Amino acid sequence: MPGKTRFAPSPTGYLHEGHLLSALFVWAAATKWDLSVHLRIEDHDQERSRSEHIAAIREDLQWLGFKWQSESLQSDHFDRFEKSLKNLEAQNLVYPCYCSRKELEEQNPKNEFGEIIYQGKCKGGSLPLVRTASLSTPSSGGSPRNAPHSLRIKIPDKVINWHDLRLGDFAENPKLQCGDFPIRDRIGQWTYQFAVCVDDIEEGITHVIRGEDIRNSTARQIALMELMGRTEPPKYLHHPLIVDTAGKKLSKREKAHSIRQDREAGVTPQELLGRVLFKAGLASTQAPADLDTALDIVCRNL
Ligand SMILES: [Zn+2]
Repeated sequence: MPGKTRFAPSPTGYLHEGHLLSALFVWAAATKWDLSVHLRIEDHDQERSRSEHIAAIREDLQWLGFKWQSESLQSDHFDRFEKSLKNLEAQNLVYPCYCSRKELEEQNPKNEFGEIIYQGKCKGGSLPLVRTASLSTPSSGGSPRNAPHSLRIKIPDKVINWHDLRLGDFAENPKLQCGDFPIRDRIGQWTYQFAVCVDDIEEGITHVIRGEDIRNSTARQIALMELMGRTEPPKYLHHPLIVDTAGKKLSKREKAHSIRQDREAGVTPQELLGRVLFKAGLASTQAPADLDTALDIVCRNL
């Protein structure tokens, strides 16, 4: 069966150089391992996603010369997510958490990435009688069982052994890394961790290529996918990031320079590709590069 990878940006802003580097790794991996590429627009966060950014993602990728074989919009998958949640609930693997953000901060230790390690305060509670519907405003007051709550997954206390195609072997226990994590948040939105697991399974993704900043999500995603019934996880590759002059990773929130701004300023795709290769340390000069050349260079670094 032919393999499949995905490029999965969130439409919460315009694509920037960091996304372009990620795209280069995805398409280079597709070339190297003969994979099809799926474009998944991860708009599970409906509060921050914008339709103009969805259109811009497609346009910017096409302008750069990337081609993909299939495409999906995560907001079209809410039925799929609901069904997966029901399956997990039927196995008694989900519970509501009523902790406020303040309580979570104050009552739980943190891991080396600054994430809380949830100690299971609300575990053992039963599911609410009336569920807050997806994306609706949660009701406040009333019966405690109807109060705003997230839904957490009961994650098993066991070590997940996984292999990164670039970084080697990892042995991590999600229970110790983050504890039972939310699969739906307090306002009824599906979390990144949950949505990505459902979609990687449903879309038959065999290779997950993404930035090193998400590496610590891998063990918990493998654990969650096991609970969802996928025993053979995808292969993973986490690539290095472009950092800004202050040594921090580029972020849309910090208004990183966007591909859109470069296009409007008259920068060519070749110039942009050359610049990204240089900034990522994959080329010694900023010489313009066409897409095939750029992919060859990244391929040699896989
Ligand atoms: Zn709680």
